[in-house]
Amino acid sequence: MSLHDRFEQAFMPVYGVPPIALARGEGTRVWDVDGRQYLDFIGGIAVSSLGHAHPALVEAVSKQVATIAHTSNLFLHEPEVLLAERLIGLLRAPARVFFSNSGTEANEAAYKLAMKHGRREGRTYFVAAENGFHGRTIGALSLTGKQSIRDQFGPFPVPVRFVPYGDATALKEAVDGDCIAVFLEPTQGEAGVVPPPDGYLAAAREICDATGALLVADEIQSAIGRTGHWFAHQADGVTPDILTLAKGLGGGLPIGACVGFGDAGDLFDKGDHGSTFGGNPVSCAAALAVLDNLDLDHVKSAGSRLRAGLSAVDHPLLKDVRGRGLWLAVVLNEPVSGRVQEAAARAGFLVNALQPDAVRLAPPLVVTEEEIGALVAAFPAILTEAVS
Ligand SMILES: *Cc1c(COP(=O)(O)O)cnc(C)c1O
Repeated sequence: MSLHDRFEQAFMPVYGVPPIALARGEGTRVWDVDGRQYLDFIGGIAVSSLGHAHPALVEAVSKQVATIAHTSNLFLHEPEVLLAERLIGLLRAPARVFFSNSGTEANEAAYKLAMKHGRREGRTYFVAAENGFHGRTIGALSLTGKQSIRDQFGPFPVPVRFVPYGDATALKEAVDGDCIAVFLEPTQGEAGVVPPPDGYLAAAREICDATGALLVADEIQSAIGRTGHWFAHQADGVTPDILTLAKGLGGGLPIGACVGFGDAGDLFDKGDHGSTFGGNPVSCAAALAVLDNLDLDHVKSAGSRLRAGLSAVDHPLLKDVRGRGLWLAVVLNEPVSGRVQEAAARAGFLVNALQPDAVRLAPPLVVTEEEIGALVAAFPAILTEAVS
């Protein structure tokens, strides 16, 4: 039986059966189980920030796993302290950190942290954006603005008001003195790499300041260099009250973080939250290797080159290229992203059919100019194949 058939039999069908089975990787290159090589322009959904098998990541993880792999939170260890301090330093603001294993769990921590603020002041509801994605557990799912994945699992513990993303007036109307917190992505990832209009995050900050609601920035996809900044909100000059991280932070090892700035960092008391695996030494060592080896100038220049190269492609299927840094969506004139993904794979490139009319590119942040050149050169033929 093929690996695909065995997968189909053994697993709950939540992902369908992925078409390609990957065996190994090196840098931006990956090989499938039949030995076919691809250039990876999706990076495990913006996760493999240093690329595959980066020597610094391999060394950090190998060394740590051979030293001590797990302590639980009954004991502290140096890698978690170093990592929390590094993040706080990069954030350039007083803050405290909680480590989780995933993005969803980071948002779940943010949800509970915000609840402490809400209960204290008698606040009753959250605000989040339509088409936003915050995760799949019940708290995070309740904030996720996509009915098809949310509604069949309700009712949810706390009401959530959804507003159109990018509309500061609608946000202002939705948020009053009873609002616990506003959850927003600085650019919506799963919705199609959709940046808001300039000034939206600053407006959200003002609205929260005026009403006492907390501003939660979900940077699970946008942070750790992805946009050419350590954190996307830094480009807008806006500091949230709570920040969540995951994806690119561990470079492929599972780790998430919930950061509380200023007073928001002090809302949890002893016993309010916890995680057996959260902040485990191996994931922390991986994250430190990521932070030590990222080159933001490279992300900026490689991102500009990728964007400029694809924007210059003259093809009737190509409508627009949007996004920032190495986090882009190629917007199509027809809902054929699945066929573009397939044609790209046949040409030796992994891309992601994110929305029917949007193809996501989130390559390793070490992608080279040559690799970008190869995708740009192949792109017109990929688009043509997708519609023929
Ligand atoms: C991926 C993602 C999540 C969920 O993270 P998991 O690690 O899959 O639990 C939450 N929010 C955003 C913005 C994401 O991109």
